[in-house]
Order: sequence, then C-alpha cells, then structure tokens
Amino acid sequence: MAYYRFQDSSKHIRIGKIICLARTYKEHAREMNTVVTDDPLLFLKPTSSIIFNHATIIIPKRSQSLHHEVELGVIIGKKGKHVTEEKALQYVLGYLVALDITARDIQSVAKKNGWPWTIAKGFDTFAPISDAVVKEKVPSPQNLDLMLKINGIVRQNANTNQMVYSLERIISFISEIMTLERGDLILTGTPEGVSEIKKGDILEARLGSLCSLTVDVQQEN
Ligand code: MG
Repeated sequence: MAYYRFQDSSKHIRIGKIICLARTYKEHAREMNTVVTDDPLLFLKPTSSIIFNHATIIIPKRSQSLHHEVELGVIIGKKGKHVTEEKALQYVLGYLVALDITARDIQSVAKKNGWPWTIAKGFDTFAPISDAVVKEKVPSPQNLDLMLKINGIVRQNANTNQMVYSLERIISFISEIMTLERGDLILTGTPEGVSEIKKGDILEARLGSLCSLTVDVQQEN
C-alpha cells in the first residue's frame, strides 16, 4: 500500500488507481507515427508500479527497450461520477511530476496485434512519482514547464499548455467511465522527446519550480 508524500504537509492519502492518457501532445503523437484522437485514450497502470524520489527503475528481463515519458500527474481529492467540466477542478487535490515508464518493444508488439498495453506499462517501478504539491500552490496547472534530463542532458522540454485536452475535459471524461475516488492519480500524457533509458542512467524530472523527481536505472538481476 502506497501513500502520497506531500511537500510541507502531513496529508496521509493512499494512492488509488492510476489512470493514464496517451497521445495528449501533438508532437509526441507525431513522433510515434500516430495522431491525437477526439476523445482521450485511456489505459491503467497498477499501483504496484509506483516508486518515489531517489528510488530505482528496474529494467525487466522481458524488455530490451524502456522509454521515459515525463508527465503532469493530477491527484484526485474527492469522489466524483459524471463530473461536469465546470466543476472538474474542484475534484483536484494536488499535482506532481511523474514518469510513465514504458517497455517500448513490448508495446510495439501489442500495438501491432491490437493487444492491451498492460504488460508494456505495468511492471514494478514503472511509475516513479515526485512529492506532491497542493493545488492551492498551483494557480495555472496548464501553464507549467515539463522537463526531463538524462545524465544532465535535456531530453524532454515542453509546457503543459501544449496539451490537446484541458484538465477539465480530462477529469470530466474519465468520470463518465469510472468513478473517480480520493487518491486516484491521473497521468496526463507526455510531450515529444521520448527516448531509451539504460542501466546506470540518472533521470531528473521537473514540473516548473514546483516539484522534481530523481531516479536511477538498473537491470533486473
Ligand atoms: Mg504516457
């Protein structure tokens, strides 16, 4: 069982389901040779894939190619079903920066065959998250720089204002399908610049000056 770590707060909130979006930045859709969709594309990651700041991503034996995807994470603060866009941000408790680690080789096979992405997205350690900030400290969540460095070199550098859906739309859309509950985490998709990570790499993700996340990469024994 995992709990969020909040900056400057002793909030004790259990991490619920992790709802992820795909293809929410046009340039990333393009680099994956695909296009954005009218409705958001969703998939889930298991809570067991969560790791925290200063932990280690493990390359599983089943994959030869892990990719980083830096993303804005939205923490849900209260239960909601059929949430309207007008009220959607009232359901947000806070934000964090996350990595949606992806076994790209496994995902490519899944895409070709029309299979789910559960294996490609669901290994242990595939959801590193930073400490969280409460929403009161984030007046404009869709105007935040989103950056990822590997070994000090910038690989992804974008702004959440480039997302093709608003957070209001995302929250409203998800809540039509599944009840949102306190502690659920929405990973809002990655901008362009995804690339492979290797054993020994140090990844540093940042969401503006609000939060940062540093993890390293090792091979499964
Ligand atoms: Mg992603």
